[in-house]
Amino acid sequence: MPETSSSDPELLNRLKAACKDTLKCMQCGVCSGSCPSGRHTALNIRRLVRKAARTTDVLKDEQLWMCTTCYNCQERCPRDIDIVDVVLTLRSMAVHEGIMLAEHTKVSELLLEYGHAVPIDEERRKQRVELGLEEMPLTVHKYPDDLKEVRSLLISCGFDSLLDNKGKRNAEKETI
Ligand code: SF4
Ligand code: SF4
Repeated sequence: MPETSSSDPELLNRLKAACKDTLKCMQCGVCSGSCPSGRHTALNIRRLVRKAARTTDVLKDEQLWMCTTCYNCQERCPRDIDIVDVVLTLRSMAVHEGIMLAEHTKVSELLLEYGHAVPIDEERRKQRVELGLEEMPLTVHKYPDDLKEVRSLLISCGFDSLLDNKGKRNAEKETI
């Protein structure tokens, strides 16, 4: 992943503004204790909340992507911190900074190219026929002319530029 420096003051200011609610956190750990994902992954939501408004390093923390957004923590937080909103905000900021996991880059590219994050393959086509379904689902797979519209929609909301950001970041990294 590309490096994001805590010495980027503009980014840090934006982070502080977006996550200022987390400064109310008293580090009680109720969120971590309620987190089903934390039982199976390295996610420690209490620590993530602590980092949220303090360091831009949080944007490249892979724990950010281990939350399933189940809202258990948010419902129980005694300080009423909108923890899931914070997680989603941090994810969005990370992606806009060109910090994206390889898996997310891959599915985003597939979505732009095929109109599906998981395009149909030969095996699935055969299975559909065996099950008595149409070979192709009623999506852009069946109506390829509409793919142009899906792409226009994605481009109009800047989705493609997120992948460009990533390319730009990687290029910067390679020249260091
Ligand atoms: S439950 Fe709320 S106050 Fe307690 S550690 Fe988590 S975010 Fe902080
Ligand atoms: S919303 Fe995310 S961080 Fe909170 S309990 Fe669910 S998985 Fe854990």
